[in-house]
Amino acid sequence: MAFKLTGEDACKKPLPTPIPNPYWVAFSAASARLIDLSLGRDNLPSDPTWLEVLAGNNPINHSEIFPNPISTAYSGHQFGVWAGQLGDGRAILLGEMAGQELQLKGAGKTRFSRMGDGRAVLRSSIREFLCSEAMYALGIPTTRALSIVGSDLPVRRESVETAAVCARLAPSFIRIGHFEHFASLQNTPRLKELADLLINEHYPECKQSQNNYLDLFTRICERNATLAAQWQSVGFCHGVLNSDNISVLGLTMDYGPFGFMDQFQIDHICNHSDQGGRYAYHRQPQVMHWNMACLASAMMPLIELTADVDEAEKLLRSALEQFPLIYAKTWQSLFRKKLGLASSLDRDMDLIERLLQAMHESRIDFTNFFRKLSDVKAGATVDQIPLRDNFINRPAIDQWFSDYLIRLNEESSDDLHRKQRMDEVNPKYILRNHLAQVAIDKAKEKDFSEVATLLRVLEKPFEEQPQYESYSYPPPADLSRIEVSCSS
Ligand code: AMP
Ligand code: MG
Repeated sequence: MAFKLTGEDACKKPLPTPIPNPYWVAFSAASARLIDLSLGRDNLPSDPTWLEVLAGNNPINHSEIFPNPISTAYSGHQFGVWAGQLGDGRAILLGEMAGQELQLKGAGKTRFSRMGDGRAVLRSSIREFLCSEAMYALGIPTTRALSIVGSDLPVRRESVETAAVCARLAPSFIRIGHFEHFASLQNTPRLKELADLLINEHYPECKQSQNNYLDLFTRICERNATLAAQWQSVGFCHGVLNSDNISVLGLTMDYGPFGFMDQFQIDHICNHSDQGGRYAYHRQPQVMHWNMACLASAMMPLIELTADVDEAEKLLRSALEQFPLIYAKTWQSLFRKKLGLASSLDRDMDLIERLLQAMHESRIDFTNFFRKLSDVKAGATVDQIPLRDNFINRPAIDQWFSDYLIRLNEESSDDLHRKQRMDEVNPKYILRNHLAQVAIDKAKEKDFSEVATLLRVLEKPFEEQPQYESYSYPPPADLSRIEVSCSS
């Protein structure tokens, strides 16, 4: 198993608590291929006991294929404040298959459940399942989702809902919070074991370097800076960027009250419990940087193994300072690609910023604007500005467009090639909240067909799918403000 730390302070042995009369809600054949799971014609596991396994209902089978399920201890900062020990309160790591850890989320109480019931509701499981697979298809690093198994078991949230168990896959579910945990206990041997484990299994390139732990930190920062830029480029808001939700592999993880923006609003807050907007869209990069600073403090004792305190601090600080540079470079490159610019000029930044400003002021649909922009021909006129009627400040967007056309004319590629390149980076289909809501509402009535349809559409976000054209539409006015909170 990839999480090899054992012992009371690192992990505890739970067993999933069965759910009554489990049934399939969703299944991802693409994720099943990752772990070489054999599927039948219905694209479900050919061995029917897998329903029981993925429900958390089969201790016999668990002991054969997964003899050693665990849940792990981690701590962390929530909304900027030290929250102490948290841990896998409702996640049980069954074991590893083909280099992927298989984790059940919502499979019952663990020793880290604190006041929680160890369960997840159907609604939030569907959102996590769909978004994991959508994110993967967008080319953005993420934990994957294999399945959702449902049950009529009642689960109390703001109202009574029903339980579901989502099976997730990742090469590792280690979070910044795991490092913070051992650092807070001043347990440097454990911290070292964790870092060594990570290097051995996931960052072997650090073994060659002079200062392996500093190199590890630098690479974790790099991955998460890139990840944050990728989120911004598709208008994704995570919603709860607490340090216990940040992967040390640079994966998007712990999907809760996330949201893809429909209308572009730079300070959009997707999590309705985040009143101060700490995790608003425009703050995500800064907050990710802040999380890396938490990791830096947690890793300090490791750097101090080979340097004095001042030197260690200096080294970590200078590694941390790379974060905004990597982020900015990636962001610029991604947005240039969104505009179809293959070459790079300094004034491109002004062009991108002015566009985002105009889109923000007029609340333009982020996904649709960029997708439609690829239809623009080099000799276009202002009436071909995508969604032009929706821009309040018409002269500003017209001027922007004329500057954009001048810029396109400085490029060597023709309209057709530019369109192809743009359509590979500007998705047509994203997991809009209102689409997820339709699938959830039907699923609550035991009709899971819409979950399957949405999965199919979102698996090919960059392809035209004429029969699903309506899935690219912005939400109807009455559904544009669906509020999502942490209660999952
Ligand atoms: P989250 O906000 O989902 O990232 O969770 C924060 C912490 O609360 C983690 O330690 C979770 O394991 C724990 N947690 C969240 N929901 C539950 C639940 N229903 N039962 C037990 N623990 C939970
Ligand atoms: Mg979490």
